[in-house]
Amino acid sequence: MIKKPFIVGNWKMNLTLREGVEFAKSLRNSLNDRNEVICGICPSFVFLNDICKVLKGSGICVAAQNIHSEKNGAYTGEISAIMVKEVGCTHVLIGHSERRHIFNEADAFINAKIKVALSVNLKPIFCVGETLHEREDEKTRYVIENQLTGGLRGISADHIRDIVIAYEPVWAIGTGKTALPQDANEVHSFIRSFITVEYGIDTANSLYIQYGGSVKPENAGDLMAQPEIDGLLVGGASIQLESFLEIVEVASTH
Ligand code: PEP
Repeated sequence: MIKKPFIVGNWKMNLTLREGVEFAKSLRNSLNDRNEVICGICPSFVFLNDICKVLKGSGICVAAQNIHSEKNGAYTGEISAIMVKEVGCTHVLIGHSERRHIFNEADAFINAKIKVALSVNLKPIFCVGETLHEREDEKTRYVIENQLTGGLRGISADHIRDIVIAYEPVWAIGTGKTALPQDANEVHSFIRSFITVEYGIDTANSLYIQYGGSVKPENAGDLMAQPEIDGLLVGGASIQLESFLEIVEVASTH
């Protein structure tokens, strides 16, 4: 099955509203009718409404960087799945390593967020990945399997098709260290085997698995050349329009 590369930029807690809107306008103009690549950006919550308006009808996806696990209620300061859906988001990052490690988000909480996202037709970009310590202890597969098992508990085959999995080794995020393309490919292959066992080969083959961790224009080509890598989740290099566009350009040749 041929899949268009899916390239998503995670802005994290960066850019101003003006910069974000300008970026979105320029991205829209630059991509115009190009459709070899599916593109998305993850602005801060407070920019989502404006940026969704700028990108409406463009085919460029907008993802929230997080949601709460409950549909609504007394959760001061939190944002629900339906709220981000209502302003026009198509996707949401769930289980990003910064949420897991800085905010102590556990697999059960992540699982509840995935379920609430799916319940309002918001597509989760579900992040998994091992720490450096875990990799050095040769526990990568064990960690990924546990994160997949916990995060996807109770999710049906129909719904799995709406999930994107992002393999993001924690030691490669924001550090400038990228996984060797072959090493990343091996973990992607492991993830796809897990999905095959749980949900069948067709579902596994249609699943998008992105790589994330210090992706730059210089390494995007080698990563995208790997057969199991369907797209990229880009942090630091997605904040500058030029480098993000270069990555999109490189991906369009794969
Ligand atoms: C990310 O935040 O998901 C990420 C991969 O960041 P960076 O590209 O900066 O490593």
